[in-house]
Amino acid sequence: MRELLNRLEHALVEGSLDRPHTCRTKGCKRQATKAVIWADGRAFVPSCAEHLETWKAWAKRQGSGSDGLTAVKPLPSRGESA
Ligand SMILES: [Zn+2]
Repeated sequence: MRELLNRLEHALVEGSLDRPHTCRTKGCKRQATKAVIWADGRAFVPSCAEHLETWKAWAKRQGSGSDGLTAVKPLPSRGESA
């Protein structure tokens, strides 16, 4: 599990979690403050604080164990260097 998390951290640094995103919720224009990571770290959904619980519940429905909700990570603010 520890090793998995280390690999996940590495993937996230190399991926796009080091830059700001807009909330994925349809019609929501807020900046995402958290990334809901699912599918064992292979995918994530950026979410604002208001929709975070909705996306966490959604991720849990995508699969059981590590296939579903994997982790929640903070996203950097706009204008803030990562
Ligand atoms: Zn939102």
